[in-house]
Amino acid sequence: MISKKIKIKGTVQGVGFRPFVFNLASKYSINGWVNNDEKGVNILLCSSKENIENFIKELKQNPPPLSKIDSIEIEDLNSTNKYTNFEIKKSETSNNKSTIISPDMAVCQDCIDDINDKSNFRANYALTNCTNCGPRYSIIKTVPYDRENTSMKDFILCEECKKEYEDPTNRRYHAQPVACEKCGPQVKLFDKNKKEISFSFDAIKEVASLINSGKIVAIKGLGGFHLVCDATNEEAVNNLRQRKQRPSKPFAVMFEKLEQIKEYTLLTDKEEEFLSSKEKPIVLVKKSLKSNLCKSVAPNIDRLGCFIAYTPLHHILFRYLDNPIVATSANLKDEPIIRFKNEILGKLGHVVDYVLDFNRDIVNACDDSVIQVVNDEISKLRNARGYAPTALKLEKKVDKKILALGANQKSTIALAFEDNLILSPHIGDLNSIESMEYFTRTIDTFKRFYDFEADIIVCDKHPNYESTKFAKSLNKELIFVQHHYAHILSTMAEYKLKEKVLGFAFDGTGYGDDGNIWGGEVFVCDNKTYERTYHLKYFKLLGGEKAVKEPKRVALSLLFEQFSLEEVLSLETSVVKQFTVAEIKMLHLAWKKGLNAPLTSSMGRVFDAVASLANLVHTQSFEGETGLLIEQNYDKKIIESFDFKLNDNEIDLSPMIKQILEEKDIKIICSKFLNAIVKIILIIAHDYDNLPVVFSGGVFQNKTLLELVSKTLTNKQKRYYYSKDIPLNDGGISAGQIYYLA
Ligand code: ZN
Ligand code: ZN
Ligand code: FE
Repeated sequence: MISKKIKIKGTVQGVGFRPFVFNLASKYSINGWVNNDEKGVNILLCSSKENIENFIKELKQNPPPLSKIDSIEIEDLNSTNKYTNFEIKKSETSNNKSTIISPDMAVCQDCIDDINDKSNFRANYALTNCTNCGPRYSIIKTVPYDRENTSMKDFILCEECKKEYEDPTNRRYHAQPVACEKCGPQVKLFDKNKKEISFSFDAIKEVASLINSGKIVAIKGLGGFHLVCDATNEEAVNNLRQRKQRPSKPFAVMFEKLEQIKEYTLLTDKEEEFLSSKEKPIVLVKKSLKSNLCKSVAPNIDRLGCFIAYTPLHHILFRYLDNPIVATSANLKDEPIIRFKNEILGKLGHVVDYVLDFNRDIVNACDDSVIQVVNDEISKLRNARGYAPTALKLEKKVDKKILALGANQKSTIALAFEDNLILSPHIGDLNSIESMEYFTRTIDTFKRFYDFEADIIVCDKHPNYESTKFAKSLNKELIFVQHHYAHILSTMAEYKLKEKVLGFAFDGTGYGDDGNIWGGEVFVCDNKTYERTYHLKYFKLLGGEKAVKEPKRVALSLLFEQFSLEEVLSLETSVVKQFTVAEIKMLHLAWKKGLNAPLTSSMGRVFDAVASLANLVHTQSFEGETGLLIEQNYDKKIIESFDFKLNDNEIDLSPMIKQILEEKDIKIICSKFLNAIVKIILIIAHDYDNLPVVFSGGVFQNKTLLELVSKTLTNKQKRYYYSKDIPLNDGGISAGQIYYLA
């Protein structure tokens, strides 16, 4: 007989780890115990050497599906044969909290089977879950992850649920949100005057018929409410657009099953895999031409954000729905996703006809994740439900606790302690009091989870970012990291790169070291310093912030760089026709004098200008629209590219602007433009032949561009990196800020 003590760290709580250990111990006739503490799971094993070895082997090879083991420490003990059974001990509490909080997970197949099985006591129960699925992050107030620390605290388990909860061989053993119709939270349907219409199963059936008849309903999900309507009903979708004042930004569509999605889209095998994964993210995929979803779901673009029903409530609902549904996060513009029924009625009372609510509170809001498949791998556009909080390992322990506050758009925060880097779920744009409240609430939540008090704060250099202002108000040691350097660092963090790299940060906008607006930057850098080796030649952003929404202003500015006022006025281009003569004269004056026309090197804005010059769009109705339209018009048969010049350390695209004016074919414009970007990267990468290449920044959310660059560099046998777990957009900035200090 021998004895060993094992310590396991990682995502190991609330994922069925202890019952798994219990069952594995009984399989190999091992005595001892298992418990949770705030650092992870501890196991004491007493048995023969062979049994214990088999136990450890299986533990490593086949851990519970939702767990993620970061480290296993094994310690030999002097054989003590005092254990006569194997026991699951109560959680220990100490002061050092470093257990990783698990993200919310989509309902598992076993639970779907339970709700569909008439003989099961959870048949039709909309809040069914088990150790392998359901809410986690969204219901946790603090650690350890025990029921009394979640919003399930006040629901006392009934006899039947209790039996399962206490039975280590049951899949609901210590599943904290476990409940049933008798003892758990209840679903209720309200009209917009707060009048209760129906409850439980009947309420869901009724909601289905309301949606089928064209109504708009707010439905509570895992991390917040969705606004829902029939995705094939043009009138319903248009009503939603009008009431929400959202003219054309695409809506995500929820389907019951993968087979249904295939009727409307063209899926690759990998896309099918991610759509069906246990995280059930929204995946951006290509629409099929015969799709009969109504046009207004995603007007003018060839992509559709799809996802599969991910709660038992959704699955019951789909039994009675005729069609797929629009399911978009319920919020006001620039505000975070709504968690409470009363807030829905208060803020979106004019949008919704009914509200389907339940009384399991959402403690921590969490949006749906949005991903796309690039080079057959995940690329996250929004890191949230199912993936976040995201835990990454640092190479070595940090000696101070670091809090990084990210950017201003697509805000996330990140923390570092010991050898952990924790990235929060997507918070959103910090443009309102409500989103700032959500931002500070998220910081407080993570401080509570990890008993975390930061020694150092890291933030962006932009003096007007709300996150920067907040950082300054904390009165702690404060480090500023330049925005685009942080973009490159975020990718370096994911791959733990320490060597010098050639970083291409092609982005929207960010504050530069010279006070100008950067965004088309090439750095030679490591994780300590950077040198700006190239940048896009500066041009003027006519109207500052306004130019971000109006690509025609950027296009006009680039025309002013090339031509005199008289020449511009006589140009036969659609851009010029977007303005009156008086407007052009006024803008030219502003351009000449630099009035409200800051200098920028933003690549994102060049994409906007090209889309306007190609007459694709002159005023953007949502961020990223120009990139999507350029991709849509890319023709891979066209291999030529526009001209450009690489001067000292400037990338000059002016030859391209003149060539675009002479070209009428939109496909040629878009293809030659993307090819030129690839060529620029290739030429510069060739000059720094010994350095691996890193891509980051919002422009690389352009799937066509990222795949083209990857293919070209692969062909040239160049080593290159871009992040996959951490978003390439500003959602990754906080992780990059951490890596600078870690
Ligand atoms: Zn389950
Ligand atoms: Zn029960
Ligand atoms: Fe950025």
